Amino acid sequence: MSISPLARVSWRLPVCLPCKEWGQGSYRSRLRYHPRLVSTMKCPFCHKEAEFVDNKEIYGQRFGKSYMVYWCRPCDARVGTHHNDPLKPLGTMADYELREWRKHAHDAFDPLWKLGRLSRDEAYRRLNTAFGREIHIGESDIETCKRIVMIATTLLTKGVYICAQDPA
Ligand SMILES: [Zn+2]
Repeated sequence: MSISPLARVSWRLPVCLPCKEWGQGSYRSRLRYHPRLVSTMKCPFCHKEAEFVDNKEIYGQRFGKSYMVYWCRPCDARVGTHHNDPLKPLGTMADYELREWRKHAHDAFDPLWKLGRLSRDEAYRRLNTAFGREIHIGESDIETCKRIVMIATTLLTKGVYICAQDPA
């Protein structure tokens, strides 16, 4: 499967159903005046509208402080949010397979800055340089995740985190 959620994801600002207003200001202040704000994000897999739900809908109990997620039930595609804010998804929606690949990418890449001599920023700078564009694992498709694993492995085997003369 080579769907690119990055290319195909689309989402719109929330709108208040009764007054059809977009509202202004932060999501929280808009919610105060437009209690029936509805946010929309299209599932990149089936292109239907995802639901904005409490994650206890998915797990049976609520997890985390930021527990609101976009969820497409049929595809089981989802993405979490920062501070339960529908305008701040953590990335693009991912189904099971893509979530697993993003985990692989993190497992391969994160040791570069968690265990190593590189700062987090420097590790991402190197990743971006390797790709020639800015990379966010949370927005990556499967092919990109595979490349991240390869690049991270190469960096590690080059001794990035044990090489003394490597710029930290
Ligand atoms: Zn879907």
